[in-house]
Amino acid sequence: MPEFVPVSAMNSPALPHNASHSLYLPGRHLCQFRAVSAYLGLAIGDALGATTEFMTPHEIQSQFRVHRNMIGGGWLRLKPGQVTDDTEMNLALGQALIEAKTMQPGTVADFFVRWMRSKPVDIGDTVSRGLRRYLNQGTVEAMPEEFSAGNGGLMRNLPVIIATLSEPHLMESWSLAQARITHHNPLSDAGILLISELTRLAILHGQEAPLQSTIHHYLQKYPIFDFSHYRGESDGYIVHTVKTVLHYFMHTLDFESCLLGIVNQGGDADTNGAVAGMLAGAFYGMDQFPSRWLKKLNPTVKDQIHSQVDQLFEIFEG
Ligand SMILES: [Mg+2]
Repeated sequence: MPEFVPVSAMNSPALPHNASHSLYLPGRHLCQFRAVSAYLGLAIGDALGATTEFMTPHEIQSQFRVHRNMIGGGWLRLKPGQVTDDTEMNLALGQALIEAKTMQPGTVADFFVRWMRSKPVDIGDTVSRGLRRYLNQGTVEAMPEEFSAGNGGLMRNLPVIIATLSEPHLMESWSLAQARITHHNPLSDAGILLISELTRLAILHGQEAPLQSTIHHYLQKYPIFDFSHYRGESDGYIVHTVKTVLHYFMHTLDFESCLLGIVNQGGDADTNGAVAGMLAGAFYGMDQFPSRWLKKLNPTVKDQIHSQVDQLFEIFEG
């Protein structure tokens, strides 16, 4: 296992004196701050990475030297700060959880379909195929696929992680329920659960020791995710996404360096950026985000994120 680069103390605000503590979740305000940070980090990684999606590191270097600003463009010809399916599917899943106040796969699928019909700027092939199956057959679980393990179920799981913070025994079943609407593969399941558990721990504790321990135990069970000899594979295969994200998260000291490493790797840069932005965002907190990124991010998306996190926290508090 690679050495974890020591990170100094969390740069998060202290709890206000009048902080109200949930019965179920100690340090609720700090957790909520980190949850919003994870969501904003995800959207930033998506918007930043979309510029270099499908490019090689060499092509990125030739064009930008280093891609470091939220300029939009890319093969989708985005506006600066515009997000793609990665962020939008999280928002759709979040709305479904808030409406149902629980995990109802049919409600989630309905919100995904509503999003698909809104003519999104991009949609993955496996997502599209899964939602068409839901529309045609009414089934909320894709057939297991032996040879296809995309990262689409992982990229959109943050609302589940946030909603189940105070009910951790539900995170696994809810995560797999939403993912398998379109993605059903043992490696996809394992990758989702590893990254989701790391993100959950980062939101709850903001410390590296529990993350190190979780990675260590997980890699013993799933050595395929070992990233100690990462060779730069960064396509949409779940194993490559997990390795790319862990490689850059574990070998950088701040949010900006982590995301710059990811998006300059190219490939599935928006999804890898979204997943890394989620994990690094939770860990470092949004007060470490470069203001040039936070300012450029689509303001409607920022508002939706703040509102959703409030409501996701309330699901088990009502
Ligand atoms: Mg995308």
